Amino acid sequence: MHEYFVTQQLIKIAEDELKEIKPKRVLSIKVIVGELSGIIDESLKFYFDVLTKGTILEGSKLEIEQKKALLFCNACHEYFERTKDFLCPKCKALGKLTQYGKEFYIESIEVDDGDEN
Ligand SMILES: [Zn+2]
Repeated sequence: MHEYFVTQQLIKIAEDELKEIKPKRVLSIKVIVGELSGIIDESLKFYFDVLTKGTILEGSKLEIEQKKALLFCNACHEYFERTKDFLCPKCKALGKLTQYGKEFYIESIEVDDGDEN
């Protein structure tokens, strides 16, 4: 159910953006989803199709780009991609979670403004 509310918010933000542009049609919307955001792609797509019915976004394609989580090693002072055991690949110290991987935002919206043809 988490994705239901998240998708509602997403559509609201997109609609606000599109108010300015007033496109003929929205082709696609690209979102960035961190792997620790707790958002499941399939649910997001499902709710997107359901909730965009009757809106300017109806029929547009939802593109999801997954972002890997990054951990921070206090010993090396470096970020590294999350490993299974959370251990730094260099020094084997336990890394800590960072804000990288919890992302959820609209990267871009592709529209058809009717200028072609
Ligand atoms: Zn390290």
